[in-house]
Formats: sequence, structure tokens, C-alpha cells
Amino acid sequence: MLETDEEKTVCGSCLCGDVAFELKPPFKLFQYCHCSRCQKTTGSAHTANIFVPSGQFKWLRGEECVNRYSLPEAKHYGTTFCQRCGSSLPWTSSDKKTTIVPAGGLDEPLSVSPVQSIYWGSKAEWYQSPCDLPVHAELPVKS
Ligand SMILES: [Zn+2]
Ligand SMILES: [Zn+2]
Repeated sequence: MLETDEEKTVCGSCLCGDVAFELKPPFKLFQYCHCSRCQKTTGSAHTANIFVPSGQFKWLRGEECVNRYSLPEAKHYGTTFCQRCGSSLPWTSSDKKTTIVPAGGLDEPLSVSPVQSIYWGSKAEWYQSPCDLPVHAELPVKS
């Protein structure tokens, strides 16, 4: 379990708001996955997933709006999304014990951070650590 002082329930939702959920700490794991499947799912470099015991997860609304896609050959992979807006949403492991929650869907700050990157060997060729890039607080001003 990840160390956390907070026992506060954290809420999340999809972009259009049809689907909402909540999860309770402590969490089992928080990690980035750079595998090729997660790159396809996100259209980006990696997922950022929180693993929580399924008993600590609850849909608040819109569970019937959640579509799941399962890769037939995959043991440890799933993806779900809002049928209206396409946002990534939580999914349950095949043994039902763990719910995997995309951290970008949370609506509140978290007291924990990712502890590892997995499938680093599969990472996108173009991936650059954000620490090595210039940063802009918002949209950069055109020069
Ligand atoms: Zn939605
Ligand atoms: Zn992955």
C-alpha cells in the first residue's frame, strides 16, 4: 500500500460529466505504463494509473454509459471509456479484486505520486522527460 496521511475519498468524472466515481485511500499502487497498448489507449506516451482494492471504489453515476474494450489475448490489460465523450475511465482486473483508475480523471488533488514507470523498454521513441522541456504555465504567447 502507498503511504498516505489522508483517508479522504477522492472523486473523479469524465469530460462530459455523464460518468462519475469515487475511490478511497489507501491505494495499492500508482504508476505510469509506457507499453504500446497504453500508448494507443491514451494517444499519448503513457497511462497514469492508480490501483485500488475494488471494495474501495464506487460508481457515483453513469455506470451504464461506460463501454469496455478487452483485448482477447491480454491478461493484464483493459480499457473503458465514456460512450459519449470518450474519456478513459476506471476498469476492473479480471479477478475483480482491483480497480484501475486513470489519474487524469480525478477532480481533486492527490496526496500520493506515481512510484514507478513500467514497460520503459517499450516507451515511445519520441518521448522526452518533461523535466528536460521548457514549461509554460498556460498557452505560450506567440513570439
Ligand atoms: Zn463522458
Ligand atoms: Zn500499459
